[in-house]
Amino acid sequence: MCKLNTAVALVCAVVMASACATSSKKTLRILQTTDIHGFYSDPAPRKDGSARPGGMRALAQLVDRERGNSEHAVMLVDSGDMWSGTILSDRTEGAAGIRLFNALKYDVAALGNHEFDYGPPGPERIGKGRAGFGALVKRIEEATFPVLAVNVKDRASGKRPAWMNLKSSVVIHRGGWKIGVVGAVTEDTPTITFPYVGQGLIFEDPIKPITEEANRLRVIDKVDMVIVLAHIGGACRVFDDPKDLGSCYSDAPVFKIAREVPKGVIQAVFGGHTHKRVAHFVNGVAVVQAGKHSRALGVLEVRPDEEGKPVVSIGKHIDIVMPKGAKPSKTTAYVDRILAPMEVEVKRIRNEKLGARVVDTLSRSKVEQSPMGSLVCDTLKALHPDRDVCMINSGGIRKDFPAGHLTYGQLYDSLPFGNAVAYLDVDGKTLLELVRLGTSGAHGVIQVANMAITYDRSKDFCPKADRTGEGKIDGHDRDRVVDVKVGGVAIDPTKTYKVVTSSFLAAGGDGFATALKKAGVKAKIFHGQPSIREQVGGALRKHRPVLNSPDNPAMKVKRVQFIGPVPRERCK
Ligand SMILES: [Zn+2]
Repeated sequence: MCKLNTAVALVCAVVMASACATSSKKTLRILQTTDIHGFYSDPAPRKDGSARPGGMRALAQLVDRERGNSEHAVMLVDSGDMWSGTILSDRTEGAAGIRLFNALKYDVAALGNHEFDYGPPGPERIGKGRAGFGALVKRIEEATFPVLAVNVKDRASGKRPAWMNLKSSVVIHRGGWKIGVVGAVTEDTPTITFPYVGQGLIFEDPIKPITEEANRLRVIDKVDMVIVLAHIGGACRVFDDPKDLGSCYSDAPVFKIAREVPKGVIQAVFGGHTHKRVAHFVNGVAVVQAGKHSRALGVLEVRPDEEGKPVVSIGKHIDIVMPKGAKPSKTTAYVDRILAPMEVEVKRIRNEKLGARVVDTLSRSKVEQSPMGSLVCDTLKALHPDRDVCMINSGGIRKDFPAGHLTYGQLYDSLPFGNAVAYLDVDGKTLLELVRLGTSGAHGVIQVANMAITYDRSKDFCPKADRTGEGKIDGHDRDRVVDVKVGGVAIDPTKTYKVVTSSFLAAGGDGFATALKKAGVKAKIFHGQPSIREQVGGALRKHRPVLNSPDNPAMKVKRVQFIGPVPRERCK
C-alpha cells in the first residue's frame, strides 16, 4: 500500500505507479550466521573479564533489537553446519540446535556437510542406505524453516531427496519485497563426510542448478531479487572497502558462484564452510560470510531505488555480544530456558579433570606429525597391541590441548567427532597407497604410530596420472612420498599389515574409499563401543600422564615429515 496522504496517493495511483511501488518497500536487512557448529552457549569470558563474542542468547538479543526497529524489515538466514562439534549439540544429535534455531525464528538455512554427522538416530554414526540419513531427516522435519540444497540429488531417483522441509529454494515475503532464496552445499561433501552419504546422494557442481533455480524464481515467481545461501566459502582479511578484493583468496569457490552464474540472475551469495569472513562485491554480486561459532552476523541491506528495484549494500559484520547491562529480550529469555538446564549437565561433564597434566601446549599440525596426532595414535596402538600401525586423519583433531590439568571438555573440543575405532587389514601395496593418499595434500597428512614417513611437498604438485582411477585428476592423485618405514623396516608389498584407525578413514574418508575398494579391504568398525575420544580419555584417566614433558621425547619426534617448498605454480 502507498503510505502517502490521500491527495498524493491519488496522483500516485494514477501517474506514478512505479514511485508508489517504491514507497511500499522497506529497507530490508538480511542477517546471516554460518558454521555455528553447536556453539550455542555463551563462550567463556576473556582473561580480563570482558565478554567474547558468541552464543545464542546474545544472538537472540541482537535479532530482537533488529526486528524491533520499525525502520527496516529483517530476514535471518544461516549457511549451514548448524550442529556437530560440542557436547551440547552432540548429546541430542542436533535437536537442541533445531529448538534454538526455531526459537530465533530463522527464515531459512542451507544444508551443510556436517549436517550428516550423526548418521542414523542413536549412537551409530554410519548408516546403510536411507537409514543413514535418519538423524538429519528427523532434525529438518523438526525445523520451522526450510533447509535448502539445490545441488543435492538422490542417486536412485535423480531427484531431490524427499525429506520434509528439504527444498531447492523458497520465496520469502518481507518488508514489501519478494525474495527468492536458493541453497547449495559444497560439492566436496562426499569426500569430507562418511562415504555412504556420497553413495546415496549426488552433490553436483552448484553453478548450473543455482542458475536454473534462480531463473525459475525470477520468471515464474517474479521475485524482486535472488539470494544464494551457500555452504561454500571464501576468505578475506580486510573489510574497509567492499570492492577491494586484495585481501581475499581469489579462487574461492563462493566467488566462483558470483562470477559464473550469468550476470543479473543473482544479487547476493551468503557463504559458509571455510569459517572465514567475507563482505565484498565480486562481479557485481554481494558476497557475505559471517565466520563461525555464532561470533558474528553478516549483514546485507536491500533498499528500493526510484523504480522499486533492489539496491544492495553490504554492512559491516556485527559482533554477537550481549550489550552490557542489557535486560534479556523476550527471545533471549526463551533461549535461556532452553539452554540453561542442558548447560548445567554439560558443565558437569566438561569440568571433569582427567588426571593428565599438560606441561606445554600439545599442538596439532596438518602438514607433519604433531604431538596431538602422536598422543592419539600411540594410545590407540597401545590399546590395540596386535595392530602393526596406527593411522588417523589430521582433520579429526580440532584443537590443541592447553597447558594445565586436562579436562574432559578440552578432550572433547580436540576430538569432537566421536569416530569409532576401526581395523583395516591391508597388504603392503595397499598400505603404500594409503600413505600416498595420506600425504597427497588433498587433506591434512595422516598422523601415525610405528611408522616413519617423509614426503616432498614440491614433488608431483600438478599430477599427470589418475592414480586413484576415479576418471579425473585432482589432489588425491599426487605422489609425494619419498620414504616410508614400518617399525624401521621398508614395507613389504606382499605382507599383511594390521592397521588401527578411525571409522572415518576406514569407511573411506579423505579419499581412502577408492583404494580400499580396489583392494577389496573389508573394514571392521567398532560401532557401539567407546569412540576414539572415549578410548583416549579412558587411557588418560588410567595412566594420569604428564604430557609433552621433556622426558617424553616421543611427543617431539616427527614421524611424518616434509621436505621441499610448496610450489607456487597453478595447475590446469
Ligand atoms: Zn562445512
